[in-house]
Amino acid sequence: MPDPVLISEVGPRDGLQSIDRVMPLEAKIDWITAEAAAGVREIEVGSFVNYRAMPQMADTAALVEAACRIDGLAVAVLVPNLTGARAALKSGAHKLSLPLSASETHSQRNVNRSHAQVLEEIAQIRAAVDAVPEETRPHFEVGIATAFGCSIEGAVPEAKVVQLAEAALAAGAAEVGLSDTTGYANPAMIRARIRAVRAAVGDKLTGVHLHNTRGLGLANALAALDEGIRTLDASLGGLGGCPAAPGASGNIVTEDLAFMLDAMGFETGIDLDRLARTREILARALPGEPLYGFLADAGVPLGHGSQTQDAA
Ligand code: ZN
Repeated sequence: MPDPVLISEVGPRDGLQSIDRVMPLEAKIDWITAEAAAGVREIEVGSFVNYRAMPQMADTAALVEAACRIDGLAVAVLVPNLTGARAALKSGAHKLSLPLSASETHSQRNVNRSHAQVLEEIAQIRAAVDAVPEETRPHFEVGIATAFGCSIEGAVPEAKVVQLAEAALAAGAAEVGLSDTTGYANPAMIRARIRAVRAAVGDKLTGVHLHNTRGLGLANALAALDEGIRTLDASLGGLGGCPAAPGASGNIVTEDLAFMLDAMGFETGIDLDRLARTREILARALPGEPLYGFLADAGVPLGHGSQTQDAA
C-alpha cells in the first residue's frame, strides 16, 4: 500500500503575506479552487491578523467561506492570538494554526507577546475551540516558529524547542509542528530536532513547515519524511520571500515536492500536470512576481507513472 503524505498548501497565506501586492479575492478563489481540483487536500487560505498591518490578508473571512464550499478540502487559517482565533471560529475554518516562536525576540516582533503570554493565549483558544459543538469543532495546532534558528537571535537551542512543544500541548494544542521560518535548517538538524521532540511528545509532532531560503528545502523535506513526518507545508511556485532581502525565496515549492513524493511512491492524491498548470493563475494575477521550482519548466519525466508503480 502506498504511504500517504499530506501536502498542505500555504501559499495563499505565507506566500501572499510576504509580497507587497494584494491579490484580488477572485484570483485567490480561482487559485485554491484549481489547486483543490488538482488534488491538494489542505490549503491554508489566509490569516486573521491586523489588516492595517497586513492588507494582503483582509479578505480571509470571505476566502474561508468560499473555500469551505470546495468538496473535501480542509481549510486552514493562521491565527496570531485569541482575537484572531475568535474570528477564525466565526468563519468556519476547519483548522487553526498558531505560531509560537522558539526565539522570544521573534515572538515579540511577530505577535507582540512573550512565551508565557502566548502559552496563556493557547489555553484561552483551547477553551474557545472546545465551546464549538463537536461536529463543527476545528482542529487547533501550534507551529513552533524559528525552530531551527532565528534571524534576530541566531542559534535556537534544541532544548528550548522541545520545552515549548511540550508546553504548547500542555496548554491545549492538539498537535505541534516545527517551522523553519528563517530557512536556517539543514537535514542533520531536521533529523535531530524531530527525534528530540518526538522523544518528548511522541506522535503529537505531525508536520514540518520549510522554507527554501538557502536551497535545502527538499533535502530537509526528505530528512523529515525519513523521520516519519507525513504532513509537509509547501507553496505553489515557492511564492514568498522578503522584499527587503533580494534572492530570499519562499516555502518549498509545492510542485517539486509533489513530484519528489510521487516519484518515490508516496501517495499525495495530486495530479502533477494539473498542479503545474495552476501556476498560470499566479502568473496572471501577479505579473512579474518571481515563481520558483523546476517541475513546471522541465515537465513530468517520460514514463513517470510506471516508475512510480515499480517504486510502490
Ligand atoms: Zn513560513
